Amino acid sequence: MNKVYKSISLVMVLLLIIGSFVGCATKETAELNEETGKYTDGTYQGKGEGKGGEVLVQVVVKNGDIDDVKILKHNETEMISDPAISKIVKAVIENKSVNVDVVSGATMTSEAILEGIKDALVKAGGSEEVFKKDKQISLSSKEEEQEMTYDVVIIGAGGAGLSAAVEARNTGADVVVLEKMPAVGGNTLVSGGGLNVPGSEQQKANGINDTVESFIKDTLNGGDNINDEKLVKVMAENALSTAEWLVNNVGVEFMPERLQQFGGHSVPRALIAKSNHGTELIKKLKKQADDLGVDFKMDTKAEELVVDENNKVVSVKAVNVAGQELIFNANKGVVISTGGFGANVEMRKKYNPEMDERYMTTDVPATTGDGIVMAQKVGADTRDMKYIQTYPLCNPKTGIISYVANSRFDGAILVNKEGSRFVEEMGRRDVISKSILDQTGSSAYLIWGQEIEQIGKMTEVHKNEYSLLEKDDLIYKADNIEDLAKFFDIETEELKNTINKYNSYVENGMDKEFNRRGNLRSIKEGPYYVQNVIPSIHHTMGGVVIDSETHVLDGNGNIISGLFAAGEVVGGVHGTNRLGGNAVTDVVVFGRIAGKNVVK
Ligand code: ADP
Repeated sequence: MNKVYKSISLVMVLLLIIGSFVGCATKETAELNEETGKYTDGTYQGKGEGKGGEVLVQVVVKNGDIDDVKILKHNETEMISDPAISKIVKAVIENKSVNVDVVSGATMTSEAILEGIKDALVKAGGSEEVFKKDKQISLSSKEEEQEMTYDVVIIGAGGAGLSAAVEARNTGADVVVLEKMPAVGGNTLVSGGGLNVPGSEQQKANGINDTVESFIKDTLNGGDNINDEKLVKVMAENALSTAEWLVNNVGVEFMPERLQQFGGHSVPRALIAKSNHGTELIKKLKKQADDLGVDFKMDTKAEELVVDENNKVVSVKAVNVAGQELIFNANKGVVISTGGFGANVEMRKKYNPEMDERYMTTDVPATTGDGIVMAQKVGADTRDMKYIQTYPLCNPKTGIISYVANSRFDGAILVNKEGSRFVEEMGRRDVISKSILDQTGSSAYLIWGQEIEQIGKMTEVHKNEYSLLEKDDLIYKADNIEDLAKFFDIETEELKNTINKYNSYVENGMDKEFNRRGNLRSIKEGPYYVQNVIPSIHHTMGGVVIDSETHVLDGNGNIISGLFAAGEVVGGVHGTNRLGGNAVTDVVVFGRIAGKNVVK
């Protein structure tokens, strides 16, 4: 036996030994415990299927009943799934019951955990008959007081609300944040964590000259110049100091080497949060708010603003998941930071009938426009409500934004079922979205090869998303164009022609058909990728009218006393169309301003 074979055999023997230990530790099947009528003691593993794939659970049975539960492996969205995991595991252990309510906003994760626990318990002799006998456990807990008084009441714990909470609390004020979901973060959490900042260290290191004026100009152009110029100016002028505040005071880490140029910007100016995700921003802002002593009332939905005889907003009526009606009095004022209304189909249709149920959304389900409706009832004015942005390249099954499809920014092309290109891939989000809907099946196919993949390595960087897409047959990797075309039934000969034509444009440095901007890269080297994509509702540009100090204004342009608003709930910053990377800058800049002004 040569050396190589010897070592392979050694490894195999070792694996067998390790395998037999693992086998001992985790039981495969058992009968019901005869004495207790419940499970047989031991340690069992089970699986459930969550939003991010398999959830692996371990259950320890002692004295015939559940003694411990651990989640061994999962790929659920960080922070959104955290309350589901901790609450359900705790409730199952404490109550020795598998009939526990799901956590709203994390239904799939909750169900996956419970499915995994049951799967493990079946191996301990359990069955649906046995599970049925467990009592139903509710996860809601009640407040001791029905009425509470703070200096500042903030509605919504997304990027704007958390920034406002930190700044208000920094002045010594008593601050409460009402959040209707069990987890903080809103749309900011599920964003790519990009923040446009002119004059950053990253730009200087890359020799990029940028100015506040150029940022203003790009934002106004992107919004077809109907934006509220005063607000755009405030955003642009405060972007750099806000990024510095996030880094130095809040501890947010941005990638030191990374700068992104989103569509419509004249230079690369977006800093990208660590892990390319909004989680970094939300995690750090929440920690800062907790450290400072901000109170959070989770699962608590604000329903109504209450005004006094002088029309000053003085309290907020809310209801929590336990069904308690609560009143939060605000000595100083109320900040609305409830986000947009992308997930509210009826509200979308009311302001723009085109944005109907044909569209899914990239947004979290909480994005239902509550703050706009509440503010309108106390006289707030709104603007730009019909401008609703779709993001062009999303998952056709879930509507969620695809980060793997960011290979488009590295050079991937879009084709239709007939195998032809139909739009400039680097165009505005609304233009690409509309043209995709006009194609056969209202969807499109993104195609790229190794020349493009090697630039951003999107299938590796976003490997969890990639494997989910693969599992759902929404992406395919092939060694040749014929196979690529066959997978989605794309017209093969036309696709070959399209790719050959495009490669000739790349060679000549000019896209003759669509005049594509940015880097042109060829599609010659396999393996190739093809991904099915659709547009999905992404951002609502309209909202309540505010002044530069974030006071909410009524129809006559007067301040509604005691009421402030920041973030996606506000209209005017982005005009008809928000540019990539401007949402996070907007929410943090104006959230901070609202937090400082509400205590004045
Ligand atoms: P922004 O980017 O403007 O901060 P986000 O979407 O990130 O907006 O956050 C908005 C937050 O407001 C979400 O966490 C959402 O659950 C919360 N929210 C929305 N409506 C209400 C409401 N009626 N009461 C309490 N919280 C709400």
